[in-house]
Amino acid sequence: MCPSARFHLLDPLGGCPMNRFLLTSAFLVAAVPVAFAAQPTQQPAGWPELPPKAPVSNVKLVEPHLHVNRAGKGAPRIALTFDACMGKTDPRILSTLVDQHIPATIFVTARWLRTNPDSLAVFLAHPDLFELENHGQNHIPAVDVPTKVYGIAAAGSPQAVAQEVKGGADAMIAAGIQQPRWFRGATAKYTPAAIMQIRGMGYRVAGYSVNGDSGSLLPAKMVEKQYASAKDGDVIISHINQPTHAAGEGVAASILALKAKGVQFVRLQDIPEKGDDGTTN
Ligand SMILES: [Zn+2]
Repeated sequence: MCPSARFHLLDPLGGCPMNRFLLTSAFLVAAVPVAFAAQPTQQPAGWPELPPKAPVSNVKLVEPHLHVNRAGKGAPRIALTFDACMGKTDPRILSTLVDQHIPATIFVTARWLRTNPDSLAVFLAHPDLFELENHGQNHIPAVDVPTKVYGIAAAGSPQAVAQEVKGGADAMIAAGIQQPRWFRGATAKYTPAAIMQIRGMGYRVAGYSVNGDSGSLLPAKMVEKQYASAKDGDVIISHINQPTHAAGEGVAASILALKAKGVQFVRLQDIPEKGDDGTTN
């Protein structure tokens, strides 16, 4: 007995019920790996309609860690990294970095660059402080299969991942920034295949080891706790594009607190690093 009338329609060879079952199973197994690759939008006449292309909910994503080489003795070494995803610039963080002369690595999108020329000018005026790296073109997760990450639709294909990476770099170069060497995708989550693809485009992929502000959503005091937990070799991620969030106040206070502890701040370009999931070696 056939498990579903739909399989009759998909089984143009017919045959006995057991053959039909085996054929159907083979069809389903064979279909799984390519389901995202080239799903036709139209079926041949008389065939059942395909369901709409749905986001895949069980995609295995990785969120790689990144550390810089430890200082060992003396002052702990910490890399501050900030994402400028879209929107504006947080002057509390930017002025703290400039006034306190604290180096940092800033990941910018093409989207953010378009609306923040004044902040970009500040970054470019302080090449001794700021390393600018690639956060993508449109702030779309660099995930090569259709899915959602924190509610954001992923790029969805290798071609779209390539465009997100290249589009970010093109906008940076057009804005007078040098060729980026690091990429961090929106949400900092990837498939292992997307990481390999981005590495093949000449980038290291920037994870982190301390989440400073949880997407700029933490209260200031929680941000301060996160920063205070950072140890020698840690890479902290935070956001510099949410001037109205309480988190930014916590970030600015935390930078001062780390400085008071004698932390040695480094940029990713200045120091050897170690990332997992094949992100850096
Ligand atoms: Zn972002």
